[in-house]
Parts: sequence; structure tokens; C-alpha cells
Amino acid sequence: MSVPLLDLNRQNLALEGELRGAFERVLHSGQFILGPEVQGFEEKVAAFCGVRHAIGVSSGTDGILLALMSLGIGVGDEVICPSFTFFATAGCIARAGAVPVFADSCLYCFNMDVEDAKRRLTPRTKAIMPVHLFGQAAEMDAVMSMAERRALPVIEDAAQSMAALYKGRQVGGIGTFGIFSLFPSKNLGGFGDGGIVVTNDDDLAARARMLRAHGAKPKYFHKFVGGNFRLDPLQAALLSVKLPHYEEYTARRRANASYYSQRLARIPGVTAASLSESRCLRSKGGDAIPADARIVLPSPYAHNTHIWNQYTLRVLGKGKRDELRALLTAKKIGSEVYYPVPMHRQECFARYVPEGSSLPNAERLSNECLSIPIFPELERSQQDEVVAAIAEFVQA
Ligand SMILES: *Cc1c(COP(=O)(O)O)cnc(C)c1O
Repeated sequence: MSVPLLDLNRQNLALEGELRGAFERVLHSGQFILGPEVQGFEEKVAAFCGVRHAIGVSSGTDGILLALMSLGIGVGDEVICPSFTFFATAGCIARAGAVPVFADSCLYCFNMDVEDAKRRLTPRTKAIMPVHLFGQAAEMDAVMSMAERRALPVIEDAAQSMAALYKGRQVGGIGTFGIFSLFPSKNLGGFGDGGIVVTNDDDLAARARMLRAHGAKPKYFHKFVGGNFRLDPLQAALLSVKLPHYEEYTARRRANASYYSQRLARIPGVTAASLSESRCLRSKGGDAIPADARIVLPSPYAHNTHIWNQYTLRVLGKGKRDELRALLTAKKIGSEVYYPVPMHRQECFARYVPEGSSLPNAERLSNECLSIPIFPELERSQQDEVVAAIAEFVQA
């Protein structure tokens, strides 16, 4: 039996009748730009995520750019973000005309090392952009106090982490802006591209709505230079069918993650770091894991509710991650390297990276990380196959 990394049809086809109904509703409405479908979806998302404003946008990427534009960030400004992230985080900073300043990450939770970020503050820093990677919140108390000391806005890249909790609070609404992605592989997966920008600030929400449609209000009177960053009514209608199932999807991902963690931890050489709150902030240097460890399991902080967009292993030892991946591929088990090259090593960002700067954890994570199937509809028998393959690898 093969185990795909993701099986979108199992989730979507279970809702086929309702999805067809939503499509027909939009078809017959004749309204294909904004309007009540988008507004209705935005209101549901805002209520679900506990924020005042949710703004439907064309992608998570465009949402990040829109947040930066709404804050007036551009040429001459610096924005601090982690190097170990998806490209869009840093790409949008550069597209806004600003300089991405890369911080290192924690080896255990994969999120930005806030102590390292603090060392990268300069008088030109205009915003902080933490990423809630793989479904787990970044260390937001530390991020917010770092930002508040300098009155800097915080843009949460929550593309992978809609409805994840940090100390009981939903991500996205903790900072100035939050962004969720509706890309098909994200936990609320759409039928094409889409995203949501959230904020609790009324003025910034109004500005973002204006910039989403070319900065005009009313139409053809342009106060700002905006863009076309609109979510389609068709996506909004289809996603309104899926949103009521979001908690069930997350519950299944969580159950899958704990099954993996229990089963995998029994294999000699596989270990889970136990995370104390301060570990993330002091994660420089060596691993606090057994010397004979070969695979490190992802472990959520006790104060976080992880939504498991990815279940990401660290495979220790030079070349070992790629060996495990080859073995999984040979057994028709899907896996993916998120992400093989940290942002400070990307060719397009070379001019932003100071000579001799080193981000050892980001580089290590790029060499060690491997994500295995975790989607909600994954079956126990499929997970058992993945566990057996990993056991074979470790014991070989
Ligand atoms: C997916 C993702 C984005 C971009 O979202 P799109 O909807 O694909 O444009 C941004 N940041 C992170 C961390 C992501 O995972």
C-alpha cells in the first residue's frame, strides 16, 4: 500500500454534494468579484479566529505583502524574520522594497530564536515577522515584548497555523496583522490560491481593504497605490463548506501526531526533546538530547496547541535525512523536505546577507528536517507502515 504525503480527494470528495451546491450558488449569482460570499466567509473566519477583522485575499503571499503595504513599509526599512521558513515570508519583504533581516531558529520548535532576533535590531527595523511554522506558535510573549519596547508592528506569518493557540490565545490576532494561507496543502485547504489577513485594528483593516482593490475608495479615486489582492467569491463559497469541519480536521491531525509520537518513541535511537518554556529562547549550542539519538521527534510546548500542518522529524548525521527519504520513496511513502535551503543562503537574497554571517541552526534544520504524512484522513494502518519504515532505517 502506498502512503501519500497528502490526499486532498479524501477530504474534498466527502463534501462533494455541498461543494457542488456552493458552486451553483455562485454560478447563478453572477457575482464573481467580492460581494456577499466573500463578506460572509470573512465574518465566519473572524468569529472563528477571535479577531475583529478578516480580509479575504488572493493568496497567503499576497496577504503578507498587503500587510507590509498597509503598514507603509518600503525602501530603507528592515524587517526581521526567521531564515528557516517558506520563501514567501522573506520574498514579500523584498517585494515591498524593504530588507529582510534573517534570524536563527530554535532546533526544537523550529521557530524564530527571539534572542538572536533581538541582536539584529537596528534603527532601521520597522517590523518583526515571526512565523508559526508547521502548525506551532512562535514564542509570542518574547516577540511582543521585543516589539513593544521599540513600538514596532508585528506581522504573524500564520500561513500554516490558523487556529493554533499560544498560551490559550489564537495566533494571527496577537500581533498587528496575521496571515493565513488557503493553499490546498494548508489545514484549511482551498481549491486554488487564497489567503486571509486578520487584524484587530480598525484603521489598518480599512487601509488593507482599500489596498486589496488598487487603493481606491470610492472606485477610480486612488488614495494609495494598491494591487489586486482579492479572494474569489467561488473560493469563499467553497471554503465556507469546509470551515465548519476545521476543528474535526485539526482533532484528527492531533490524534495522528500523538499516535506517531507514541509509536516512534519506542524505537531505540528515536527521541523527543522535552520542551521547557525557556528552551526555545536558549536553544543555541548543542542538543539537549541523548548522544546516541538518530531521529528527533517534533515536540509541542505545553503552553501551545499545535495544529500539525506538518509532522517534521530531524534526522541526525550527515546525509542521513536524504537516506531516510530515499528509503521512504522506495516504499511509496510520501515525504517532503520543508525547507532544503534557508533564506540567508538563497541566491536572490545574497545582497541582504552580511559577509560572514552565520545562522547555524537554520542551516542544520535545512539538512535534518523531513516531514512525513499527517493529513486528517490518514489511516492507522498507513501510519504503521511509516513507523515500520522508520524503524527499519534506524535499526539498519
Ligand atoms: C504557504 C505559506 C505562505 C504563502 O501562502 P500562499 O497561500 O501559498 O501564497 C507563506 N508563509 C508560509 C510560512 C507558508 O507556509
